Amino acid sequence: MAKPTYIVMLGPPGAGKGTQAKVLAKKLNLTHVSSGDLFRENLNNKTELGRLAQSYMSKGELVPDDVTIAMVEERLSRTDCVGGAVLDGFPRTPAQAGALDAILNGLGGEVNIVPYISVPAKVLVDRLGGRWMSHSGRVYHALNNPPKVKWIDDVDGSPLYQREDDKPETVQRRIDVYLEQTSPLIEHYRSLGLLVEIDGTDDIESVTADILEAITGAAGL
Ligand code: ADP
Ligand code: ADP
Repeated sequence: MAKPTYIVMLGPPGAGKGTQAKVLAKKLNLTHVSSGDLFRENLNNKTELGRLAQSYMSKGELVPDDVTIAMVEERLSRTDCVGGAVLDGFPRTPAQAGALDAILNGLGGEVNIVPYISVPAKVLVDRLGGRWMSHSGRVYHALNNPPKVKWIDDVDGSPLYQREDDKPETVQRRIDVYLEQTSPLIEHYRSLGLLVEIDGTDDIESVTADILEAITGAAGL
């Protein structure tokens, strides 16, 4: 059987990782694995992991590596990931990056390519401030990507909501946490020759086109 393909989306909160990961996963027939979505699912289902994660998420801090790694490892081992995955929000620390290598090695694969979506901090604040979420995981933006009817999901008509951690005070902390703990991964993946830098300030469709062009060129996917 062909080796699985793993794409790691890197970039600050609000860069568009989730938006792009969903499109890429569909186009490349891979599964979208978002650590943030997994935590929010646990939160909704009121699991013990959800309760633990909530105490960090609400402050904009990272959930400890050990529980995060275990959660993602379990997700990647499911049958819908046999062909590979588009990872979004993981890894977020050097320790998680090391753990991911070991996990993927165990699954017969490796990190194939790392699109790094780069967006200035000022734009991030606007994007997160206007982000509207659906309970089924679709993501809108009040101005940039609005639903047909305000606060209503286009597909299933359910009400949209704003994430607690998209409030301005938490957003700044999340950007700082990203700069402190996650941004070292840019150099890590660059030094391995896996990084492709994408200007994330363009509109959603242009960013998708740029990522697709970069990854087909670089990884032959
Ligand atoms: P991340 O997963 O990196 O935190 P999201 O994909 O959730 O980012 O996007 C954050 C917000 O910005 C969402 O409201 C989304 O609709 C919007 N958005 C995403 N990409 C773009 C873009 N290229 N231009 C304008 N708005 C965008
Ligand atoms: P965004 O895409 O806007 O940065 P996410 O949905 O990826 O947000 O993550 C929301 C929160 O979930 C993070 O602020 C953090 O508390 C937690 N989280 C998600 N992924 C990880 C991870 N890999 N390691 C630690 N905490 C994480």
